[in-house]
Amino acid sequence: MSLSHPTIKDGWFAEISDTMWPGQAMSLRVKKILHVEKSKYQDVLVFESTDYGNVLVLDGVIQATERDEFSYQEMIAHLALNSHPNPKKVLVVGGGDGGVLREIVKHSCVEEAVLCDIDETVIKVSKKYLPEMSKSYEHPKVSVHIGDGFKFLADYKNTFDVIITDSSDPEGPAESLFQKPYFELLNEALTEKGVITTQAENIYLHLQIIKDLKKACKSVFPVSEYAYVTIPTYPSGQIGFMVCSKDASADVSKPLRSFSPEEEKKLLKYYNKDIHEASFVLPTFARDALN
Ligand code: SAM
Repeated sequence: MSLSHPTIKDGWFAEISDTMWPGQAMSLRVKKILHVEKSKYQDVLVFESTDYGNVLVLDGVIQATERDEFSYQEMIAHLALNSHPNPKKVLVVGGGDGGVLREIVKHSCVEEAVLCDIDETVIKVSKKYLPEMSKSYEHPKVSVHIGDGFKFLADYKNTFDVIITDSSDPEGPAESLFQKPYFELLNEALTEKGVITTQAENIYLHLQIIKDLKKACKSVFPVSEYAYVTIPTYPSGQIGFMVCSKDASADVSKPLRSFSPEEEKKLLKYYNKDIHEASFVLPTFARDALN
């Protein structure tokens, strides 16, 4: 039986949201629908596209495509990890596709990488259809917890050197991950010089969300800066991160550690030392709104 999904018509997937990106839609041509499922938390779709490889979609929103995921995963992970002097214990909240874990274990100083995603269906379909992203689930340093990141964090104090929140948008199960109480939990779960990154939306579409997010981060962390990555299949081709540190003297725009040029070439396709610094430089309209 051939599969169908309401977001796919005449061989094209369209990403429509009247609240998050009214009046526009990213479209990808579909070769084959691979998986359709209503999990306990969200609508899960995986399809093979003609030009972007396999695509993971949750509640109608693109989470990752095989062609461009590296840019987002590398930046959300290495901006945080290279802003910490010696990260040993790292937590990912969300990130069920496994891509952020894959980046974390590239750092030999990391001894333990824990992932907490609310939805085991995302992990299951990623292992099946996104093998390059999910390959680090088998890594000996990695462990997985299925549950709400917000609730998980409440049990940990002074534990993680870096916490990366790779969540979906603030509609649905990830809503609580964009609010001040969540940043307070992150702060408590971090060790003394702990660093976080968290998915922080698009400057053309979501300036108000980013402003609110920055305000919430600033009320908890002495250092809170917005950085961004370009990526064709996220809305309007750009997505940002809040990068925050507990160390008041930290300048997160200058990496404390870096990969050697050989490692950069071998391990990375987007992140490098220069782009770490450049990613904090904002266009005038966004800089004025956020500072
Ligand atoms: N990089 C993607 C993006 O920005 O579109 C996000 C990808 S990742 C697959 C998002 C994950 O966050 C999903 O697997 C979802 O299950 C998870 N998630 C959403 N809310 C969560 C929560 N409250 N606790 C833990 N994980 C959550």
